Amino acid sequence: DQNELKKIISHAKEYGYVFPSSEIYDGLSATYDYGQYGAELKKNIREYWWKAMVQMHENIVGIDASIFMHPTTWKASGHVDAFNDPMIDNKDSKKRYRADVLIEEHVAKIEAKIDKEVAKAAKRFGDDFDEAQFKETNPRVLQNQEKIDAINERFKKDIEEENFEDLKLLIEELGIADPVSGSKNWTEVRQFNLMFSTELGSVADGASKIYLRPETAQGIFVNYLNVQKTGRMKLPFGIAQTGKAFRNEIIARQFIFRMREFEQMEMQFFVKPGTEMEWYENWKEKRMNWHRSLGLGEENYRFHDHLNLAHYANAACDIEFNFPMGFKELEGIHSRTDFDLKAHEEYSGKKLQFFDSEEEKSYVPYVVETSIGLDRMFLAILSNSYEEETLEDGSTRTVLKIPKVLAPVKAAVLPLLNKDGLPEKAREILNELKFSVNVQYDGKDAIGRRYRRQDAIGTPYCITVDHQTLEDGTVTIRERDSMEQKRVSIQEVVSEIENAVDL
Ligand code: ATP
Repeated sequence: DQNELKKIISHAKEYGYVFPSSEIYDGLSATYDYGQYGAELKKNIREYWWKAMVQMHENIVGIDASIFMHPTTWKASGHVDAFNDPMIDNKDSKKRYRADVLIEEHVAKIEAKIDKEVAKAAKRFGDDFDEAQFKETNPRVLQNQEKIDAINERFKKDIEEENFEDLKLLIEELGIADPVSGSKNWTEVRQFNLMFSTELGSVADGASKIYLRPETAQGIFVNYLNVQKTGRMKLPFGIAQTGKAFRNEIIARQFIFRMREFEQMEMQFFVKPGTEMEWYENWKEKRMNWHRSLGLGEENYRFHDHLNLAHYANAACDIEFNFPMGFKELEGIHSRTDFDLKAHEEYSGKKLQFFDSEEEKSYVPYVVETSIGLDRMFLAILSNSYEEETLEDGSTRTVLKIPKVLAPVKAAVLPLLNKDGLPEKAREILNELKFSVNVQYDGKDAIGRRYRRQDAIGTPYCITVDHQTLEDGTVTIRERDSMEQKRVSIQEVVSEIENAVDL
């Protein structure tokens, strides 16, 4: 729920994970900065992905293409002509809205009415309540469901046929008002391109308009031949990349879920035409397994198949995650056919093919891609790991149960007292660990408070150095989730931590 999201946003800010961008100037809408722990978590997610995708696959290699690309790239990819959202402006408030979102929100309100009706009945009938049957028979629910179906059908048709006049009519007929001013005085619906543009070179030289890439994928497509040839790659093979992408999202909201500047982790897998469905299924499974390996809970993931396919795809689905605002897209898996490579062949006049020595012929490979938003994965982890716990003694703690391999700080070394040589001993341990993991030293405040601080940033292990340490070389190691403490030798601590957090 929204309350949950608010708590996570404020925790992220308070503990150095995510700050509003340029906050001293009151921030810039829908842009965020990653703080000292956020940057570490982000880096760890990126590395975890890279390792699984590139290092673990003999036939996948990684590249790092530039954000600026030749402008024709975006003509070929279809982004200049088709990367649009239908927008409508309110004449009174002068605010601009995505027409599809206005309708979506209207539908959500009707859905809420149904939910209310169902909740009321559930209360009335108690244990005997059959929700499915109730929904199929209750006249008020049926009527509302019919309304929803009719709106969705008409909206879908309008978008497909680019019938913006009817879309405007639909908004008017539904009585949708500007959420800010309440006014229903709308302009026409117009298409609005999501790409940011800028100018390359000085205006006097006849500057050319270029775009900030709205996806990283095209950097891979234009390098297909470079990589295939220099890497002597044979089909099937993949090219992976992580990097920034930019979209002028009109309604950017829900924290780092939808931003104007974000990071993608994409992999394009080039296959022999006709085998793409097999690979599509294969990558669906592999990507879901990657998510499962992090232990955020199977029930928090689901596939959502696309029924309306984009112009370039012959099959597509999303992996959705149960965010605080409900199930939403986290990753996309698309079978993109030979659409992109063929388009680049056409626009560049260069052949982008593969010579199949078995078949003794050349062809344009098909592509299956997996595309995940790094910031969305960050939000999935942060929201999933945030817990407020009441302990046995009645006190509370806030803890981030981040998967250990991804935690920004793996261990904190804490001298029990700031005297008697304990700080020096603690630093010795720190200096041993810092070569393999990110560690932190904390000598301030009572030990209990220091534990709480580490819980709040999600540090899996706290190592406490006391007088006994000086005598027998043992320390106390406290585990974050169970809060269990045990006494072990320093050597054991080092290897236990190194093993537990190994990517
Ligand atoms: P949405 O429907 O949520 O706008 P999309 O279908 O346009 O997303 P893709 O073009 O498939 O997204 O991009 C792949 C991934 O990039 C998405 O699954 C998402 O994780 C991430 N992504 C896309 N747009 C944004 C954004 N504005 N902010 C953060 N991440 C994004």
